[in-house]
Amino acid sequence: PLTGNEPVEDHQITVCVRKRPLNKKEITKKEVDVISVPTRDQMIVHEPKNKVDLTKYLENQKFRFDYAFDDSCTNEVVYKYTAKPLVQTIFEGGMATCFAYGQTGSGKTHTMGGDFQGKTQDCKKGIYAMAARDVFAYLKSPKYKPLNLIVSASFFEIYSGKVFDLLADKAKLRVLEDGKQQVQIVGLTEKVVDNVDEVLKLIHHGNAARTSGQTSANSNSSRSHAVFQIIVRSPGMHRVHGKFSLIDLAGNERGADTSSANRQTRMESAEINKSLLALKECIRALGMKGNNHLPFRVSKLTQVLRDSFIGDKSRTCMIAMISPAMSSCEHSLNTLRYADRVK
Ligand code: ADP
Ligand code: MG
Repeated sequence: PLTGNEPVEDHQITVCVRKRPLNKKEITKKEVDVISVPTRDQMIVHEPKNKVDLTKYLENQKFRFDYAFDDSCTNEVVYKYTAKPLVQTIFEGGMATCFAYGQTGSGKTHTMGGDFQGKTQDCKKGIYAMAARDVFAYLKSPKYKPLNLIVSASFFEIYSGKVFDLLADKAKLRVLEDGKQQVQIVGLTEKVVDNVDEVLKLIHHGNAARTSGQTSANSNSSRSHAVFQIIVRSPGMHRVHGKFSLIDLAGNERGADTSSANRQTRMESAEINKSLLALKECIRALGMKGNNHLPFRVSKLTQVLRDSFIGDKSRTCMIAMISPAMSSCEHSLNTLRYADRVK
């Protein structure tokens, strides 16, 4: 498996998978770990065909990705191979996106928003914060300092096809598209930030807004996409120089939940399903010319990220999160198949 010392490859689209460790609850329940990461780019699901004797009749399904992170990898190592190379992209005047995909409980928020320490989240240890840290390092470097670029941040949530501002008490926002297919979220808070600490405060604020009013992990945050953006603008006209969108996606198991008795749940599920399918198509088209036929408009997620997928300087990375327990086997296979088709 990857140790962190291997060289970072250069890809326009990077697709990787991350396995989390079995948690206390799963260990107490004597859950079996069915995922292995034999090499730096492979993940294997050992699917038991005989549910009585789990050691017998294993069917191994092998998948290959750009990188496969096993349960000993830290957020730092994951960051190094995923979002870190994209910081350069935005300074070179490009658009970058990094997605965390996977079922609820697989580690998306842990990876993007930061480690949980008991009940609170240490956002310094998440990819949002690490990306912000490196953005300021670039800003102060001899190469980019003379450009006097301005850094700002936004944080919003897409829930059931509607946009909510996580930096403004979850105010509901409208999305407008002009004749030139320029998409704008009207009134979205964009705070100018001068250092990492200011960004951390915003992340903390947004994370808290995201989970407020929830009673368990099994609530809104698993049905919404959270989008954290770092925007770099040129001085004067404030033209966008580059933009980095980091997205903690809705739980992919939610998209499959279309048989619920509750109408609202069914509609949410259909919306999640649609957005995750459109996302896959849009990523595949990254950098292609004349991609007007792409399904950007079928979901709010792809509509608001449209400008990040077009243009030959765009780059993206998807991190598919995997829960190792046998009880998650079906979801893990779905996640791996989806990730396999992104590229
Ligand atoms: P998701 O956002 O995908 O629903 P979370 O990020 O909330 O999942 O993770 C679920 C639980 O698993 C959390 O308690 C989190 O701290 C823990 N966890 C996730 N990934 C890891 C990891 N790589 N190492 C240790 N604990 C993890
Ligand atoms: Mg989460």
